[in-house]
Amino acid sequence: MPPTDTSCAKCANALPDTHHKIAVQAQGIAFDLDGDAFDPHPKLHPSTARALASFCSRACCKEALPKNLAEAGLSPHWAKNRITTGPVQPCAACSKPVILSGPHLAWVMGKVTTTMLAWDGTFEWLDIVLVLCQGCNTGMQAKQRIEERAQV
Ligand SMILES: [Zn+2]
Ligand SMILES: [Zn+2]
Repeated sequence: MPPTDTSCAKCANALPDTHHKIAVQAQGIAFDLDGDAFDPHPKLHPSTARALASFCSRACCKEALPKNLAEAGLSPHWAKNRITTGPVQPCAACSKPVILSGPHLAWVMGKVTTTMLAWDGTFEWLDIVLVLCQGCNTGMQAKQRIEERAQV
């Protein structure tokens, strides 16, 4: 079911085509194995991103992130976290090591330019807020809860 909301999840302003999203992505980040360089803009498979919420501005997005995390059962302290190094990071839910080059879930926030109905999962740029191991699909559950609430 495509999203039908066209207003900011924080302040209810109409969403401009260029806006910000919090999303859960299935990721497998390619590392440069010849060195330890981390690509801050990894190529991600767009179709595997699911938007949790959309915002009119980065300010609204950042303000809302702790609440979105809490609703997903994750500690709001992750709101200030950014994944900038690899190749292993702790799962935000269970602390198990997550190998970033393998399949895992990540909470991301970033800028998109699209109409609400046409978003293909692509970000112009994004921050990786946290990663989840394959056993912890909290973000997906949160998305389902959001969809359920929208249907009421
Ligand atoms: Zn807003
Ligand atoms: Zn986990």
